[in-house]
Amino acid sequence: MVKASPPIRRCLACNYSLEFLSTCRCPECGREFNPMDSNTFAVSRPLTRGWFIATVVVWLYPIGLLVAPYIAWLIAWATLRRRPQPSGDWPGNISILLDLFQFLYAISIIAFPAAVALGIIANIWLARAYLLSFTRAAWLHLGFILMWVSSIAISRFDPWRIGIWFFD
Ligand SMILES: [Zn+2]
Repeated sequence: MVKASPPIRRCLACNYSLEFLSTCRCPECGREFNPMDSNTFAVSRPLTRGWFIATVVVWLYPIGLLVAPYIAWLIAWATLRRRPQPSGDWPGNISILLDLFQFLYAISIIAFPAAVALGIIANIWLARAYLLSFTRAAWLHLGFILMWVSSIAISRFDPWRIGIWFFD
């Protein structure tokens, strides 16, 4: 279990951290707060390491799906010592490692709707933990969706016909 970090007091107006101050005034924007009155400041929890790793995994998932066939192709090239052919050099016939790789990739593809859903939840949580403004939170979600869309688009475009080799 990851222990939760202590909450951080933040300015209601500008979100600046209000920890370790000698006065009850935001050093960034000058807004006053009362340390005994929780209505005068916001509270956020910094990312724990477990959450941080989960967020990174969720963001790297679409990139992983995009590059996995290329990594498999390079492994096949290194094993065969020549360029793998789309018909004939089936990944499973080249090495057991590629067979396993293809199997894990198939599972990752099946799990992709769950990965998208988990990503959106992670981003909502991230926006809350860091008290992001509506605009910043919207950019966070847009960035995540764009990453998925571009990964899928590049996979489908498949300029070097590597996807065809991998899925064949
Ligand atoms: Zn402030």
